[in-house]
Amino acid sequence: MANLSDHFDGRRFFNPWGSSAKSLVDVLRWKLAGGAEPWPSRVVDAPSPPLPELGPDQCSVTFLGHASLLWRLPGLTVLTDPIFSRRASPFSWIGPARVRPAAFGAAGLPSVDTVLVSHNHYDHMDLPTLRSLAARGVSTVVAPLGNGKTLRAAGFARVIELDWWEPVEIAGGRVTLTPAQHWSSRSPFDRNRALWGGFKMDAGGRSAFFPGDTGYGPHFKIIQERLGPVDLAALPIGAYEPRWFMASMHMDPFDAVQAHRDLGARASAAMHWGTFHLTDEGIEAPLRRLESARTAAGLAPEAFRILAHGESWIP
Ligand code: ZN
Ligand code: ZN
Repeated sequence: MANLSDHFDGRRFFNPWGSSAKSLVDVLRWKLAGGAEPWPSRVVDAPSPPLPELGPDQCSVTFLGHASLLWRLPGLTVLTDPIFSRRASPFSWIGPARVRPAAFGAAGLPSVDTVLVSHNHYDHMDLPTLRSLAARGVSTVVAPLGNGKTLRAAGFARVIELDWWEPVEIAGGRVTLTPAQHWSSRSPFDRNRALWGGFKMDAGGRSAFFPGDTGYGPHFKIIQERLGPVDLAALPIGAYEPRWFMASMHMDPFDAVQAHRDLGARASAAMHWGTFHLTDEGIEAPLRRLESARTAAGLAPEAFRILAHGESWIP
């Protein structure tokens, strides 16, 4: 059992910087408003280019779709929130279906030192994908407190649960769980019984940051203050409409640009858009909005890039 803290009351986890709790009435109010833009049922991208060769002190990120990213730092290779299944759902026959295939898939990826899972929502913690990765020899998974039981059942030999700010050494690097403003649930009975978070990765003198799902808040600045600036981040830009419902749990592109600055990130890549139709905005609305947000902030496009699905970036 976790210790009482500024984000755990002995039974449930909570957000120290603001509440994200939404009621069933709020969900009905959102859904009945009928504001969802339609999405195409299928998007076909150009085939993914092969992974680039890295120099000894280079790092790269590869956008596999949604929050699934392959991170390669000197001495540390990591997969975040892998989901290669057709649906982000407890069921194979109902729930949000992907409109793009997963770039590479489990079979096309290099071997990784660990999987990092940010929280237990179905679009981030996908058990069929995690089981297939464990079966392919990935032994280690790291997740926030309260997620160990689910992940052990997926077949990983080493399941590491961390509280916010707790580090663990893995392969040639270090992974630290960072705060996020979000919530958790896999069933109607387990709301906020497991923690959520992001991951700072440090290896070979390079640093990377993956926030998972989060609303905008003061935590980005605090992360830079406590853990230093970031060479390479991936920041969520999608699943933000309507704002009255989503702002406390998902950033929009303007929030993401502010988070990029708060983190002291040298380079950021956009993620969490274009794969699952979860919220009201159109499929490419986050991209146009990110362009506006970059312009408003005077940020060069190379500082906060939109990667194609399957694209790698060595910043
Ligand atoms: Zn989530
Ligand atoms: Zn999500």
